[in-house]
Amino acid sequence: MRLIFIGPPGAGKGTQSKRLIDYLQVPHVSTGDMLRQEIKDRTEYGLRSQEYMAIGKLVPDPIILEIMGHRLDQRDCANGCLFDGFPRTLVQAEALDDFLSRRGTPLDGVLELVVDKEELIRRTLARGREDDRPDIVRNRLDLFYKQTALLSDYYRKRGLLHAIPGTGSPDEVFDRIKQVLKKIAS
Ligand code: AMP
Repeated sequence: MRLIFIGPPGAGKGTQSKRLIDYLQVPHVSTGDMLRQEIKDRTEYGLRSQEYMAIGKLVPDPIILEIMGHRLDQRDCANGCLFDGFPRTLVQAEALDDFLSRRGTPLDGVLELVVDKEELIRRTLARGREDDRPDIVRNRLDLFYKQTALLSDYYRKRGLLHAIPGTGSPDEVFDRIKQVLKKIAS
């Protein structure tokens, strides 16, 4: 199954995506993780990305699309994958459609975790990651609502979007996700 997992920072995507990849037995394709690895490895992509990441801005589309193009060519993606943190812009969404249709492997669905904004700020600050300073958190959230929220419309119009309330325990949220997967598969 090929799925996109979208949701604002702090919505619990990390926890749920771990469960999802175990459940579906597909690789977790997270651009955030991939970029952090590029930075660790001091690659050119890493060097070009870190200044954006440090201030909570989106890394430019061409860099993301280069990295993603390479990733999709790896064998483990042949039978499906879970996209996490990607696409973040319409340009990326259109490029992904293009990547996938050229490979004859269309998307099965888009899962969107929905959590109230105040709850998101509270959860994210409690997480304590280095790029979780209050100003940066707000920057990331503003960016999400301004730019990335357009993606919901894009996928809703294509009948692929499934909104999942992100409130309640991780088990409750995952049960909702499994219900949606059943719907997609049927
Ligand atoms: P994440 O781990 O998904 O929250 O991503 C951390 C940071 O990596 C983001 O704040 C962006 O700076 C960058 N990033 C991750 N994925 C993307 C993407 N698809 N497009 C642009 N920037 C990204």
